[in-house]
Amino acid sequence: MTISDRLVRDTYGLYIGGKWMSAVDGEHLLTINPATEKPLAEVAAAQATDVDRAVEVAREAYPAWRDTSPDERGRIIYRIGQLIREYGDELAALESLDQGKPLSQAESDIESAARYFEYYAGAADKVEGRSIPVGSKQVDFTVREPYGVSVQITPWNFPANLFARGVAPALVAGNTTVIKPAEQTPLSTLRLAEICAEAGIPDGVVNVVTGFGKPTGSALTSHPDVDTITFTGSVPTGQAIMKQAANNVTPVTLELGGKNPAIVFPDADLDKTTNWIARAIFTNSGQVCSAADRVVIHEDVHDEFVSRFVDCAESYEIGPGAQDLDMGPLASADQLEKVLRYIEIGHKEGATLATGGNALDRDGFFVEPTVFTDVENDMRIAQEEIFGPVLTVIPFTTESEALEIANDVEYGLVSGIFTDDIKRAHRFAQRLEAGNVYINKWFGDTNQTPFGGYKKSGIGREKGLDALESYLQTKNIAVNIADDDE
Ligand code: NAD
Repeated sequence: MTISDRLVRDTYGLYIGGKWMSAVDGEHLLTINPATEKPLAEVAAAQATDVDRAVEVAREAYPAWRDTSPDERGRIIYRIGQLIREYGDELAALESLDQGKPLSQAESDIESAARYFEYYAGAADKVEGRSIPVGSKQVDFTVREPYGVSVQITPWNFPANLFARGVAPALVAGNTTVIKPAEQTPLSTLRLAEICAEAGIPDGVVNVVTGFGKPTGSALTSHPDVDTITFTGSVPTGQAIMKQAANNVTPVTLELGGKNPAIVFPDADLDKTTNWIARAIFTNSGQVCSAADRVVIHEDVHDEFVSRFVDCAESYEIGPGAQDLDMGPLASADQLEKVLRYIEIGHKEGATLATGGNALDRDGFFVEPTVFTDVENDMRIAQEEIFGPVLTVIPFTTESEALEIANDVEYGLVSGIFTDDIKRAHRFAQRLEAGNVYINKWFGDTNQTPFGGYKKSGIGREKGLDALESYLQTKNIAVNIADDDE
């Protein structure tokens, strides 16, 4: 299939209880193609009443889904993975059109989305409790139970992939779901909800309410009948959601931002390191929570690295996702404005622009791959998440200085080290304040490894078996077996 607007319907409703419906007051939003700045489709914008309806439907569907045998649940969830593969070309094209990323990157997201469903399907019948010895008068054991209604709020950088990352473990554990995709990129989520139904997910188990952070997202996260919330997005929104959830003591899993250091030592292979870091900062135009946006590099190889990296950045071909070049547009006008604002801040802070720094003079939200050198770690461009293709390069002299710079940031999502010294690599891996450490690589994580943040980068873990912890609660059952009942 080739990419064309025929992939996209003119209008989309909310997907609640297996049916398409308009928002009660007919409100809608426009989703924009970031490569052309033209509207792609009109999408319903849910209000609090619509959210109430979605949560109520998910609540009603919960007992039957919870009581579906684990092996049957696993089979349905596996089928979702297979259908995602079957519709892979269509989904990738839709994602690329709505989000902007090059087609091959969208294909890789979709492949990984299928893997989430396949991987978690196998866990459905392996959710087990424990038996605890407490003496001869009592039998004691635990069971793991779903929470009930799981809310999933996703951002605009990996819409389809993050749908799968949260929905697959939530469903496998026996929860029903209400998903709110980002207002900028709702289309793949709506299509995935239909695919879930085609795979055999009963009506009401997967519901999608499209709309803005307020009122749609906040109506969900403050809803008293929601049992657990999984949020991926920015730190300020995560903090707002925690406050709302606190009123109902609703548990939250938060996957937030990063400002991730790649530490480069002189013994690293500079060719390979340049390629890894280019991929780590320019994939999805840098709109990745785990992007390597700070290179902390030994002074002996600083100039050589910068020269190679600038050559590499300047070789990047940029264009619409459909052309599948090296880099697509940013996802929205707001994001382009934010990235350009940070480039301006970098200039004002006295960093040196080694390459890039401009929006492209054409339609679409395109910006050049950009590199700043002479960056001090206390500059805003080294501390704040830019979420664009902007690399900051910070030199160091000693190992302890490198570690201090790497950890001196409020985030703790991902860190990486490039060195041929295995002892040093492991020393750093132990001391880096991050939930994920790469050694001589970046990205390419598998679905079965846990992912999440230290410090302000989040609470809880996604991916791998660890993710099931967000969707299961433990009940202890104590049975009196004493003869004398004392
Ligand atoms: P965002 O916080 O602005 O929005 C994320 C989602 O939250 C959207 O669906 C939005 O509509 C919704 N939302 C906004 N305000 C809300 C409110 N008050 N209540 C409930 N929902 C609300 O984030 P974004 O700009 O869409 O995404 C970029 C951020 O996501 C970056 O900080 C990035 O690092 C982070 N991210 C993290 C991971 C991870 O796994 N750690 C993955 C991808 C993106």
